[in-house]
Amino acid sequence: MTDNWLNNWFKARDVALWGVADLSEFTGDETVPPYRHGVAFAVPMDKGVMAAIKKGPNRPYADEYVRVNDLIDAIGEELAGALEGRGHNALHLAASKRTDPLKIAGAFPHKTVATRAGLGWVGKCCQLVTRRHGPWVRLGSVFTDAPLIVAKPVVRSFCGSCRECVDACPAEAINGAEWSAGVGREALLDARVCDEYKKRHFYEFHQGHNCNICGAACPYGLKSLKP
Ligand code: SF4
Ligand code: SF4
Repeated sequence: MTDNWLNNWFKARDVALWGVADLSEFTGDETVPPYRHGVAFAVPMDKGVMAAIKKGPNRPYADEYVRVNDLIDAIGEELAGALEGRGHNALHLAASKRTDPLKIAGAFPHKTVATRAGLGWVGKCCQLVTRRHGPWVRLGSVFTDAPLIVAKPVVRSFCGSCRECVDACPAEAINGAEWSAGVGREALLDARVCDEYKKRHFYEFHQGHNCNICGAACPYGLKSLKP
């Protein structure tokens, strides 16, 4: 069951993957606005661009990353405005905004909102993995106090025995552990090693994003190339 107006709102913008997360357990967490719901949505990256970065990012990938992030920010801002227009409080969380350089993290993880909104799970590569596009998506989040119908959260990984991203990572930053709800990033990924590797080898394309060799290897993403 979904909120009809929200369903139509996303449909009009060609966003197929979205959901509402119950974030009430984070009330009091200073990194989260005091709103109990998070609307998560995903915009797919261009499949051809993603399939072409198995050996590392290139200019088309960097440009696509910026394009999709800009689109997400525009959609998030517009959605926050639409919710406010309906008399609710709403706050858009900028796409991939790194606010803590020490922890190499944004203010609040889009992945947390997305898993709780039922969009997918956190893969061994530490990215959100969707069934339809794998990790070849970028995420947006809007916090709100609007009385929306929440989705069933995804609480476990569907990576199974796959280790494609673990083996593909040239920095050996992925340790191969399986995610479940509550498992933090440090259990999955050495974020410092990952960050240093991509800065050292792909500095010209490094705008806060991943080198994403791991994401390019994911069978869930590769599956989307098939007709
Ligand atoms: S982004 Fe690059 S360095 Fe980081 S985990 Fe993925 S493959 Fe490894
Ligand atoms: S490559 Fe395999 S292990 Fe890694 S995120 Fe994708 S499905 Fe999970």
